[in-house]
Amino acid sequence: MTDKTIHVTVWNEFLHEKKDSSVAEIYPEGIHEAIAKYLNERSGIETRTATLEEPEHGLTDDVLNSTDVLIWWGHMAHDRVRDDIVEKIHHRITCDGMGLIVLHSAHHSKIFKRLMGTSCSLRWREDGQRERLWVVSPWHPIAEDIGDYFEIEQTEMYGEFFDIPKPDEIVFISWFKGGEVFRSGCCFYRGRGKIFYFRPGHETYPIYHNRMVLRVIENAVRWAAPVERPRTLTIPRAIHARPLEDLK
Ligand code: ZN
Repeated sequence: MTDKTIHVTVWNEFLHEKKDSSVAEIYPEGIHEAIAKYLNERSGIETRTATLEEPEHGLTDDVLNSTDVLIWWGHMAHDRVRDDIVEKIHHRITCDGMGLIVLHSAHHSKIFKRLMGTSCSLRWREDGQRERLWVVSPWHPIAEDIGDYFEIEQTEMYGEFFDIPKPDEIVFISWFKGGEVFRSGCCFYRGRGKIFYFRPGHETYPIYHNRMVLRVIENAVRWAAPVERPRTLTIPRAIHARPLEDLK
């Protein structure tokens, strides 16, 4: 019998919460625990957490090899993430089909930039104004039960141009009170892996206590989980091909 449970690892650099009391007030146990607590209450999902300052950033081979979907939040210490671990994550995504959900300021994380191949830079302003996220792919599994749009009362602004390759699917576009727009929910396929970039999540606002934001993350976990494949299917290699027809 096959285990249908989706095994999720929520990774957080977990530094803002330790250094800044206003962030710790919103996330006493860290952003990762807030997301993990919600996901663990959902059916068919089992969640654990990992953080930067644990040995191997909490991402040992055992953890990575038993993770179906990795969620990534980072901001002030992208450069402290070990390159060899980034390579292992990359391999797990493109060759094994592990899903990746990249949150908010992780647009500048090593793993996201490695997968995108662009600067992933954007326009930003910390003004605590409203954001409205419009669903632009209502048929997409990540938009399930979200309706036409949802709002976040106070947030940091991210605006275009967002320097990413053309997404394979766009699920959300944000409007900001200051007049900017932003591709807030973008899907990418890289090899066997599915990647979802999701914008909301600035650490000084209670964004990961917002039920709509959490629901989108849950939907994304279910979408990004690897598709079951026969064990015999291995990583493709270059093959010298004999013709199927007589070429004489
Ligand atoms: Zn931010």
